Amino acid sequence: MSRSAHPAGPRHADVLPEGHYTAPPTDLNELDPRVWSRTVARDADGAATVGGIPVTRLAEEFGTPAYFLDEDDFRARCRAWHDAFGGEADVFYAGKAFLSRAVVRWLYEEGLNLDVCSGGELATALAAGMPAERIALHGNNKSEAEIERAVREGVGRIVLDSFQEIVRVAHIAEKLGKRQRVQIRVTVGVEAHTHEFIATAHEDQKFGIALADGQAAEAVRRVLKLDSLELAGIHSHIGSQIFDMAGFEVSARRVVGLLAEIRDEHGTELPEIDLGGGLGIAYTSEDDPREPHEIAKSLSDIVTRECAAAGLAVPRISVEPGRAIVGPTAFTLYEVGTVKELSGLRTYVSVDGGMSDNIRTALYDAEYTVALVSRTSTAGPMLSRVVGKHCESGDIVVRDAFLPADLATGDLLAVPATGAYCRSMASNYNHALRPPVVAVKDGEARVIMRRETEEDLLRLDVG
Ligand SMILES: *Cc1c(COP(=O)(O)O)cnc(C)c1O
Repeated sequence: MSRSAHPAGPRHADVLPEGHYTAPPTDLNELDPRVWSRTVARDADGAATVGGIPVTRLAEEFGTPAYFLDEDDFRARCRAWHDAFGGEADVFYAGKAFLSRAVVRWLYEEGLNLDVCSGGELATALAAGMPAERIALHGNNKSEAEIERAVREGVGRIVLDSFQEIVRVAHIAEKLGKRQRVQIRVTVGVEAHTHEFIATAHEDQKFGIALADGQAAEAVRRVLKLDSLELAGIHSHIGSQIFDMAGFEVSARRVVGLLAEIRDEHGTELPEIDLGGGLGIAYTSEDDPREPHEIAKSLSDIVTRECAAAGLAVPRISVEPGRAIVGPTAFTLYEVGTVKELSGLRTYVSVDGGMSDNIRTALYDAEYTVALVSRTSTAGPMLSRVVGKHCESGDIVVRDAFLPADLATGDLLAVPATGAYCRSMASNYNHALRPPVVAVKDGEARVIMRRETEEDLLRLDVG
């Protein structure tokens, strides 16, 4: 596996093997509901619609490239997570997947909490009116200013990531005359990606405090000695785009093991454990993610069993899905500029965006699908690579896809499942203007994050 492919958990760490697509899909016009958001369909003219609006109209009104976010789908996913975990657990949406003030309000209305991992994300959450006690602050190197703002505002928890940070947060809380609720992030020695996980003693990564060698137990000792910190629980986040629950099982067992050690040494049972996020979504029709209620049952069974074995009361569980909530809710709409056939190889289809609006393909070899959405076609399949307009040969949006052979300039293509880690990781490379995010619901479309302008670019350039 290539190193660069690890962190966001692509389906395949390496490039797709030659001939991966042995056969094109039977129907190039089909929009597989496993991959597209809930309200996506085709109308009588063959154009794809979302929230009842044809993409042709959306392109006219909002331009391309643009992200279209299905608000009903987003809210339905929030509710599914919230209801699945019921009153017994807390769901924290991981804001880094995609955050805007509108999204924060939806989360608030649907009863979810919010994870932030920077001052900017915290500012957005607060600006949209998320109550501070429903916010958790993460990060492996939070600045003093970030910590101070969080403590001052009264965030529900700060997740401590290092020995230095224990002292730093304690000091700031003391200075402000506050007692801050905290969790300690531990690394449990589980690296989980997609269908596999690796259980080791140590994890070679920058986050958290190792459970191995008694490091985490030492962190607990130090936190318990500090009056300005209230230790609420232990936190573990094992990876991304995970389908297999076995990694969570090992993680929960090790975290519960630590809770038992803490009880034995300090005579106190910590009330919370957080098992992190990382639940996978369908980027292609081959992916088969679990539903929130299955995940909730599975996590709750694991924790209940491990606690029974250790003779502990079951702590309050929290989870932090980001991708699993917002990922499937949006697609990116592009216009085809050029179609270049390399005979005997494939056809390169250039669209009006690229690695500036979706870096995941270049960064992680992530797999996406793509469809012609401005019309249907009866033409045969053409093996294609959808590329952007940036000055980089690695500027690939979809590495291998079958598109109709009559594809032409001006056609609209859409890439589904781009709600997570696309706009939030978007860049201005080549001075690209970052695309807008348009929320669509019940026949109405509204910009929740506008397109950047050349003025925006020049405003930062002080000359
Ligand atoms: C990134 C992250 C998440 C969310 O991951 P997803 O794959 O989007 O579910 C949750 N918790 C922590 C601590 C993270 O860093």
